Amino acid sequence: MPDVREVIIIGSGPAGYTAGLYAGRAMLKPIIFAGFSSGGQLMLTSDIENFPGYPEGIGGPEMMMELRLQASKFGCDIVDKNVDSVDLSERPFKVNVGDEIHLAKTLIVTTGAEAIWLNAENESIHKGRGISTCATCDGAFFRDKEVIVVGGGDSAMEEATFLTRFCSKVTIVHRREVFRSSQIMLERARSNPKIEWKINYQVKSWLGMEGNFEGATLVNTESGEEENFFCDGAFIAIGHKPITNFLSGQVETDDQGYILWKENSMTSVPGVFAGGDVVDTRYRQAITAAGMGCMAAIDAERWIEDNAH
Ligand code: NAP
Repeated sequence: MPDVREVIIIGSGPAGYTAGLYAGRAMLKPIIFAGFSSGGQLMLTSDIENFPGYPEGIGGPEMMMELRLQASKFGCDIVDKNVDSVDLSERPFKVNVGDEIHLAKTLIVTTGAEAIWLNAENESIHKGRGISTCATCDGAFFRDKEVIVVGGGDSAMEEATFLTRFCSKVTIVHRREVFRSSQIMLERARSNPKIEWKINYQVKSWLGMEGNFEGATLVNTESGEEENFFCDGAFIAIGHKPITNFLSGQVETDDQGYILWKENSMTSVPGVFAGGDVVDTRYRQAITAAGMGCMAAIDAERWIEDNAH
């Protein structure tokens, strides 16, 4: 049988790496299963301007590389593999990674969240070939092109502003007049001459045959009138959903799948802790995720002390 680890951390955004850093410094010899695409959502973020300590800002991938280095410096093993499933029915917990089984006294779940698609008509035929959820990944393919960005939150403003580096015109399509985005990001988009607005519009369907994206049929959410809006590409920025499939319902979540904290950062399963976007429906910031990773590691350490025998 494999050794029983004190802590296994699943997920490698700011929450996972911070949990790894704290658990490593507490001499718990943690292992992080970082996933095949390690680093989480910040790998797709160009500039982070609101993480304290970086007055000039820092690139998302650059910050994740620093966090990873810092965690491994303190003895954290980092493995770029996905966890397929876990068995939390008895302790030690089982963590299944391909054909390997890993055992742990405690788990820290920091798997974050992933982009939500609109699921409008014809979306599946244009996914990744005309429609994207990541401007940082795909923006450069739309040099001198006209695109739309769907959404009214910070993600939509950030994506739209970023896309103006490449695109000749970016139109933000938002379904109502009120925006969820912060004032500063909304104003930045509003003052950008390359950004135009379609307010009170929802995408009904996407236009064009497979491999030949042509735009969207938009519906006015007040009048119900439809119109075709022709463009070269679309970016969907309407939020995220937590990544919890591998838990197959063994940890209590809310009705959207976000893990619930029961006692401090501990979940409904004693010995299983969680932090970052996988629990957070409210703040969803790099700094709050890092803070929650720290909390989960401290709570796991104390729980091990209290349950040592
Ligand atoms: P969000 O704040 O939840 O905004 C989602 C937007 O998408 C809303 O405007 C919503 O419209 C719209 N939407 C949702 N479902 C839709 C649908 N089916 N059809 C059309 N529109 C739909 O999500 P987010 O923008 O991804 O931001 C999430 C969190 O990350 C926030 O806390 C944000 O501050 C943070 N964030 C921060 C930064 C930064 O500071 N650099 C960047 C990105 C994100 P309604 O308003 O009508 O519901």
